[in-house]
Amino acid sequence: MATIYREGDLDLLSGKVAVIGYGSQGHAHALNLRDSGVDVQVGLREGSPSAEKAEEAGLEVRSIADAVRGAQVVALLCPDHVQKEVWDEHIAPNLEPGAAVLFAHGLNIHFERIAPPEGHDVIMVAPKAPGHRVRELYVSGAGTPGLVAVHRDASGNALALALAYGVGIGCARVGLLATTFAEETESDLFGEQAVLCGGVPALVQAGFDVLVEAGYQPEIAYYECLNELKLIVDLLYQGGYEYMRYSVSDVAEYGDLSRGPRVVDDAVKQRLRDILGEIQTGAFAEELFADDEAGRPKFAELRKAGEERAAEIERVGKELRALAGVEGLLGVR
Ligand code: NAD
Ligand code: MG
Repeated sequence: MATIYREGDLDLLSGKVAVIGYGSQGHAHALNLRDSGVDVQVGLREGSPSAEKAEEAGLEVRSIADAVRGAQVVALLCPDHVQKEVWDEHIAPNLEPGAAVLFAHGLNIHFERIAPPEGHDVIMVAPKAPGHRVRELYVSGAGTPGLVAVHRDASGNALALALAYGVGIGCARVGLLATTFAEETESDLFGEQAVLCGGVPALVQAGFDVLVEAGYQPEIAYYECLNELKLIVDLLYQGGYEYMRYSVSDVAEYGDLSRGPRVVDDAVKQRLRDILGEIQTGAFAEELFADDEAGRPKFAELRKAGEERAAEIERVGKELRALAGVEGLLGVR
């Protein structure tokens, strides 16, 4: 069984916490820490559209440099692809001796895009939930599970400090699972390339395309391959494979058990291993960072190709979601 921490000493966070960025995670960490009695400042770049929101929520907003100065902990909660620039320009020059640097995802540390100097604790507290859930559940008295890791223990007290932060944002109410920057980063990238994103959306699209090519109505293909996916995922989430197979019809269960291994066969599994290999060797990160530094030309191409591939399923989906009122419900376009 993994090590799961459920407590920490909040008094260890006696100094200021600088929360850099006020997006999904940033707003939740800043507000939860503040409500836990921690001294928080939000550090934002000049002209940031988030500043007004943070101030309205009653938080102190400073420039990134000012928030970092005098902080005991600096939490980097701006998007991963801007963290290096924010680090180089605004954080590194202003970091107090001995200040701890905290991440909610290990990408930039694990692949050495950011290398904090010796003498600073480098820690991770990563809620396993979108920021809005992290805030909502904290307010309701509950919490979201999280991961905790120490990349560098300069103070001799880095884990305890990370756990205190985990208490402050409410994750310790549920549990902080001990991991490493390597494990968190590599498994997270794998999940979002091979299964959650990558794999599942590609399978949905391929299934949709096969039905439409065979002459079935696109609306039927959409309901079958995309809309119903949520129902199956809900069953898996609630009760695992056994509950899902109990809940679907026997015909569906027979089809699942006899055809599933043909859809995802050894060749697919081998490609999953190859994708994991590219993550582990750093080849993926190298490709991603190089594209980022070049102004994202490859990303733009990939987005365009993705839009073209999905044009038909998107067209149908938009119409059917509008019928169901789903788009309004979720507040999406
Ligand atoms: P986000 O995209 O929501 O953050 C946007 C915020 O960052 C903006 O509101 C702004 O305040 C700031 N920002 C944007 N561009 C900036 C720039 N150029 N310079 C300075 N600040 C800028 O980010 P997020 O999704 O909350 O991710 C933050 C960190 O948390 C990442 O390391 C991410 O991997 C991690 N994480 C995110 C989630 C999630 O659910 N979103 C879950 C776990 C971990
Ligand atoms: Mg993830």
